[in-house]
Amino acid sequence: MKKLIKNGIIVTATDTYQADVLIEQGKISTIGLDLSVEGAEIIDAQGHYLFPGGIDPHTHLDMPFGGTVTRDDFRTGTIAAAFGGTTTIIDFCLTKKGEPLRNSIDEWHAKSKGKAVIDYGFHLMIAEMNEEVLAELPSVMDQEGITSFKVFMAYKNVFQADDATLFRTLVTAKELGGLVMVHAENGDVIEYLTEKALAEGHTEPIYHALTRPPEVEGEATGRAAQLTGLADSQLYVVHVSCAEAVQRIAEARNKGFEIWGETCPQYLVLDQSALEKPDFEGAKYVWSPPLREKWNQDILWNALKSGQLQTIGSDQCSFDFKGQKELGRHNFTKIPNGGPMIEDRVSILFSEGVKKGRISLNQFVDMISTRSAKLFGLFPQKGTIAVGSDADLVIFDPNVQRTLSAETHHMAVDYNVFEGLQVTGEPVSVLSRGEFVIQNRQFVGESGHGQYLKRKKYEKGLIL
Ligand SMILES: [Zn+2]
Repeated sequence: MKKLIKNGIIVTATDTYQADVLIEQGKISTIGLDLSVEGAEIIDAQGHYLFPGGIDPHTHLDMPFGGTVTRDDFRTGTIAAAFGGTTTIIDFCLTKKGEPLRNSIDEWHAKSKGKAVIDYGFHLMIAEMNEEVLAELPSVMDQEGITSFKVFMAYKNVFQADDATLFRTLVTAKELGGLVMVHAENGDVIEYLTEKALAEGHTEPIYHALTRPPEVEGEATGRAAQLTGLADSQLYVVHVSCAEAVQRIAEARNKGFEIWGETCPQYLVLDQSALEKPDFEGAKYVWSPPLREKWNQDILWNALKSGQLQTIGSDQCSFDFKGQKELGRHNFTKIPNGGPMIEDRVSILFSEGVKKGRISLNQFVDMISTRSAKLFGLFPQKGTIAVGSDADLVIFDPNVQRTLSAETHHMAVDYNVFEGLQVTGEPVSVLSRGEFVIQNRQFVGESGHGQYLKRKKYEKGLIL
């Protein structure tokens, strides 16, 4: 069945114009003025924007952490993503030292297959870089299409890799055509500060932030950037939260290093004072890196506007307040890190960014979709509205006012970090490869529609 979207305003990372879009066999087949096609289902998008479906480059669905598991899995998480205007996610496949990468990849396929309602790919965590890993990586890239690798510089004795591993990963990624992603915080220093705080009897959520000060993020970001320059490799810094890290990225980019930065809605809208909410409510706002002092928000917005940061990830990692966040009631180090964000990522950026004049409409599309498609080997199949691209489309009402709340969200958690926040704009209908997933604000998709995406390799110098 052909679908014809009429009268919408198409917005891409570069252009804004009114035109009709014809969809055939899951792909965009024609873009033009006043199209009329016999037998096509007509979708009237009058007064609405037409965006390429959002690409969330940073999710953790069905992920074990600190003795518990995230509440959202590949079904609830991708449904919530779709409601929010996201049609592709890239989730982090966690690996274990001494075990074949294959085992972890199989495990992530088992978590996602038949459940996802939108398309998905995987990044692969690199915990160690030895002969076994080196031998496995070419097939991981060529056959699985996993072309981005995550190295944790924090979470001592859990995920943290040493500098030798980071450097060898950068060298290997350059040789094989991969993009290295880092969680940039100095885990050794955090461990010291954490032990000291606990020894002094500090157990409240605010100490999560006080034991991970901006300097440890800035230091790790700068170290990763320097090692990237030394390896002549490429780097993507996830969840940048503060001025110190922005500065290190900007310096490295000014030297010509190929370095990219992602930030997340929580760092743009919320601040460190949330961790001091009474009755342990601060635990809802425990992310790593932590929320920062409010003045950092302007720095992050300006870095997005000026191109020093390029993408918005959700870092979706949802735990209930009751029973999960509460594990840390008497010890902040036991609070599961992360929050529910997959659904509100696009709307926050539109309302707080575009509507408040901080970024342009085209920059918005670049940040929530196009740039991630390019960096992670999905462009032009995903990330734009063009003839031949997948018909992953969001019909967006730019004027409707609504209030974000756990009462109305679709994530499987018992709170929303933006509870009560008024936003402007909402995805009305969302299509994945030409099929409605959301139609007039109702979920009409199905588990198993989402397909696993094999991604292309990173080509140095190709992406601006
Ligand atoms: Zn993350």
